[in-house]
Amino acid sequence: MGRIVLEHVSKEFPGGVQAVRDVSLEIENGEFMVLVGPSGCGKTTILRMIAGLEDVTDGEVVIGDRVVTDEKPKDRDIAMVFQNYALYPHMNVEQNIGFGMRLRRTPKPEVRRRVGDAAGVLALREYLARKPADLSGGQRQRVAIGRAMVRQPQAFLMDEPLSNLDAKLRVQMRAELARLHTELGTTIVYVTHDQVEAMTLGDRVAVLRDGVLQQVDTPQALFRDPANLFVAGFIGSPAMNLVEATVAGDTLEFGSHRLPLPAGRLDTYRGRTVILGIRPSDFQDADVWHDERRPVIEVTAEVVEDLGTEAHVLFPVEAAPVELEGVAEDPQAGTPIPLVAAEGTSVFTAAVDARTAAQTGGRVRLSVNPARFHFFDRETGRVIRTRPLEVPAPR
Ligand code: ATP
Repeated sequence: MGRIVLEHVSKEFPGGVQAVRDVSLEIENGEFMVLVGPSGCGKTTILRMIAGLEDVTDGEVVIGDRVVTDEKPKDRDIAMVFQNYALYPHMNVEQNIGFGMRLRRTPKPEVRRRVGDAAGVLALREYLARKPADLSGGQRQRVAIGRAMVRQPQAFLMDEPLSNLDAKLRVQMRAELARLHTELGTTIVYVTHDQVEAMTLGDRVAVLRDGVLQQVDTPQALFRDPANLFVAGFIGSPAMNLVEATVAGDTLEFGSHRLPLPAGRLDTYRGRTVILGIRPSDFQDADVWHDERRPVIEVTAEVVEDLGTEAHVLFPVEAAPVELEGVAEDPQAGTPIPLVAAEGTSVFTAAVDARTAAQTGGRVRLSVNPARFHFFDRETGRVIRTRPLEVPAPR
């Protein structure tokens, strides 16, 4: 049914822009697949190639059991929902949702039934007689989705459908989309540059950079086990702390800090420099959560941000920061690269319990769990996987 397969798909636009490079991706029937990455990484182009709105330069597109690479969009049995949903202003909700079916001369009772069903699922029943101008942004977006739904396609392709909504509505619509997907069970391919949206909606998430697929996995696996520096820096908010570190015997040195190495993990990197990654949430204030098994580093808090649910302690580390080219290009993406405080100094973020006594300018003792450290090769940016991760001690 709604399985979608991309086989070695590439796209080169006239003028030589390589928008998509050799992407292979298998989307299961009924799966919610999110394509995420910074601006210009090729997400929309991939979606448009699935829809047939853009030819592929190389490779094959399969929808259901059919190779559709050379088929017209209307023969592909998919429905698109865009960021700019154009509703007909002079038609009410019922007419807007049913318009396509009326155009195809679907019998009236069938139109009424499908519109009624869609309106029920989308909680639009009481608005059927209203014109778009009298609806909220979220309701209008639901009408646009309703229009796609009544076509009963094999798959929905959605291109940043929530980006025109304000923050609160976006969160609400996100939950509704998730519910809708559970109810309909239809395959969804969803494009966004917002990693939080990707992580909350996707059964699986495909991370792209410069037209190249970096990693495809469940949100949890991307967060816990990023395959390279790019994914590590892109997924997670606040972003993973990344810094150069030296493997010296059984210890890891970064800035003025020395920490015991997780047993056996970096044997082949002894005496060399690696990139160390620590998630902000893998720090704890050692004076709030005391665990004598955990090593502690003592730092000076540059800034303490109390968010109520947790506190972010920003502190300098005297070691070269890692520049993540491409990650910070899109200011809207909300995924900052590690801050650069001064040359050769990185600013780390620790997300700790809000009961922390840390104060701006004061000393803080932070415990870390080396079993949760991430290591990347400095030359290739790839994760160093010499041994399976130890099972981390419970927090
Ligand atoms: P955004 O989040 O900004 O929409 P995106 O990841 O969806 O970005 P695409 O729109 O797929 O990116 O574009 C990928 C690359 O292809 C970009 O470098 C873009 O400038 C280029 N591109 C897109 N459409 C065309 C076109 N019709 N002609 C030439 N280049 C194009």
